[in-house]
Amino acid sequence: MAEQLADRIEIDGSQGEGGGQILRSALTLSLVTGRPFRLHRIRARRVKPGLLRQHLTAVRAATSIGNAEVVGDELGSTDLVFTPGAVTQGNYTFAVGSAGSVTLVLQTVLWPLLLTPGSSRLTFEGGTHNPMAPPFEFIAEVFLPLLRRMGAHVDAQLVRHGFYPAGGGSFVVTVEGGHPLRPLELFARGGVIRRKARALLAHLPRSIGDREIRVIRNELGLERDECRVVDVDSAGPGNALMVWIESEHSTELFCAFGERRISAEQVAARVVAEVRAHVEAGAPVGPHLADQLLMPLTLVGRGGFQSHGLTQHTLTNMEILGRFLPVRFEVQDEGEGRSRVEAFPSS
Ligand code: ATP
Repeated sequence: MAEQLADRIEIDGSQGEGGGQILRSALTLSLVTGRPFRLHRIRARRVKPGLLRQHLTAVRAATSIGNAEVVGDELGSTDLVFTPGAVTQGNYTFAVGSAGSVTLVLQTVLWPLLLTPGSSRLTFEGGTHNPMAPPFEFIAEVFLPLLRRMGAHVDAQLVRHGFYPAGGGSFVVTVEGGHPLRPLELFARGGVIRRKARALLAHLPRSIGDREIRVIRNELGLERDECRVVDVDSAGPGNALMVWIESEHSTELFCAFGERRISAEQVAARVVAEVRAHVEAGAPVGPHLADQLLMPLTLVGRGGFQSHGLTQHTLTNMEILGRFLPVRFEVQDEGEGRSRVEAFPSS
């Protein structure tokens, strides 16, 4: 116990961008390294600080796959002590119990399972298409293909869409852990090969999707056969507009969600702005993907990518990752909003 206390990493959750990512990164790396941590002032920079359902589900999920001991795992808690045990593969179900994002819960538990020999089947229940989180398609068609390129054996299948606020969605992820991971090097995007737009609608009039697609076609020049309005099954109403940009070396996906009092045209304008920034920057990795690729860089200890629009969120995450493993990140400004991000072993 005394040894574990000495080894325990103390993290101030208010540092930098001060959000939920600090918690998720700490949980993941605690499981991978076996090092306990205490996180205080959790999400101190948010309007509602402390653990929300989505964060609490991530804590519980990490606790169950890692046979961990945890203190402070309650809704609203701003102080958590997490002491990991052995990571164990198996069949797990993780339910947020609200529309909180479950794709972020997946990102917390995926890495320890990928690094541990054996197979797991993970069922996630809650929000699959939430604002401020990767939509399911981003996970399945952008993030996981890059992990497979690194040598990971992982797959994801959507069972049902879950939109904010009703939730009720689910997806299943199968992991075969223990395969060695190669460094990811993604420094060039190459030309755009394919584009695709989908307006998803659940229990909402088709005209919303038609209006969104009209903006996408007018503003981004997508052809009719590249665009589709899709009715999906879901517990409650929902609308997501997604545009895929498939380039020679990477695929990116940009997304916005329908909201009350926000017109279909405004939703589409948000996606248009993100797609334009990506296409014009010419970098393979957008701001969200940059965030999510820091973890594999840290775990492998090498590799890098070229990104655009690096956020404070990403910079804060770099600091947290470096607390658990001997890795340092170098960020070089390459002009016109592009950055080269590289990981190196630190002594
Ligand atoms: P908080 O409310 O404390 O900010 P949170 O845990 O809800 O915490 P963030 O810490 O902001 O959320 O993390 C959200 C994660 O979701 C980030 O990794 C971000 O890059 C990712 N993300 C957000 N929107 C998208 C999107 N449209 N596509 C892909 N990833 C996204």
